[in-house]
Amino acid sequence: MVVRTWRSMQERYNLIGSKCKTCGTVYFPARSVCPECRRKGELEDYKLNGKGKVYTYSVVYAAPKDFEKQSPYVIGIVELEEGTKITSQIDCEPEEVKIGMPVEATFRKIREDGCDGVISYGYKFVPTEQ
Ligand SMILES: [Zn+2]
Repeated sequence: MVVRTWRSMQERYNLIGSKCKTCGTVYFPARSVCPECRRKGELEDYKLNGKGKVYTYSVVYAAPKDFEKQSPYVIGIVELEEGTKITSQIDCEPEEVKIGMPVEATFRKIREDGCDGVISYGYKFVPTEQ
């Protein structure tokens, strides 16, 4: 589970990474330097479409306290259509998940912290129809 605090509406429900204009590689999370091109690279914001497939996964039985209610759950590495990989929860039954299964990102509010009003949003992946 990756949790981020999104600062703007634009980013809140999108996967914003970066793309190197020089070599075309897409990175997520966003980077400021392309490790391939170094100083020749020029990175720009890039919105990932959130679709991909399960690259590998594991089923977590000993859940951390926050996730007790949904244990066991599936954590996977998702290979996005843009070629970058994201570690995320995959919202399906442990016996349902398989390598190569098509998935897409969904967003939800994880928690709202008291007085400063910071809202944390997280993403997870759900199976898509084949
Ligand atoms: Zn590059």
